[in-house]
Amino acid sequence: MKPKYKSKMHQEQWEMSGANTDESNKLKSCSSPQLDQVQESARPQKMPTQRRTFKEIPLLQLHILFKNILKNKKCIEFYWVKAHIGIRGNEMADVLAKNATRRENIDHIVKIPKSWVNHQFNLLALNKWQQRWEGSQNSRFLFGMMPNINTKRCYGDFFINQILTTHGCFPQHQHRLFGKSPDCFCGRDFGTITHYVYGCSKYNNIRQKFFPRNFPSLGILELVTHFSAKKGLRLIVQDLFELSVSTL
Ligand SMILES: [Zn+2]
Repeated sequence: MKPKYKSKMHQEQWEMSGANTDESNKLKSCSSPQLDQVQESARPQKMPTQRRTFKEIPLLQLHILFKNILKNKKCIEFYWVKAHIGIRGNEMADVLAKNATRRENIDHIVKIPKSWVNHQFNLLALNKWQQRWEGSQNSRFLFGMMPNINTKRCYGDFFINQILTTHGCFPQHQHRLFGKSPDCFCGRDFGTITHYVYGCSKYNNIRQKFFPRNFPSLGILELVTHFSAKKGLRLIVQDLFELSVSTL
């Protein structure tokens, strides 16, 4: 039966196997771009009975052959095949794999993917960021609420961020920046965030309306992330902000 070929790769495999010269000559003579197109099934063919084995083919020759095949990149297809039943491509792979284990040097090194390098740099940057966050002397109030860095966490609220960072309109912070009185206008405590969230009597109504009943047992972060309490906190900071601007 006349062998059927689909691609140059199959043609070269056939020629390499040293099979039937009449058939291979026919094949060479009709080699054309059309032959490289799909003509027949490209399923792996069993090896002819009279042939050279792949063990007889110099390794360098195989190497050059495969390089040429890969350079052309025409109609290369992959099939699952049974092992050790004489399928020539599979036999070749076995021989090459065994030969490779006997080599002293590695002659082909797979390059590291760019995505892997980017991922490693990303991990290093995050690790460095976490170390700096833990070792810093700044923003320890926020660190107490958020000890772990997180690239997905983003608070863009002008008033809520003043609570989280402790930077803003609170008398204690205004005192540090502008020398204003650090006391609350109610005269009962320092003008700290804790005082305004939990204690200042001026904002009792806001707490009753927006905060959950158990708010004294909740942390500031829990209140910030509470849907209703967050509204109340915004109103408190907004009022403090207007007061601090009016006393500039
Ligand atoms: Zn007060």
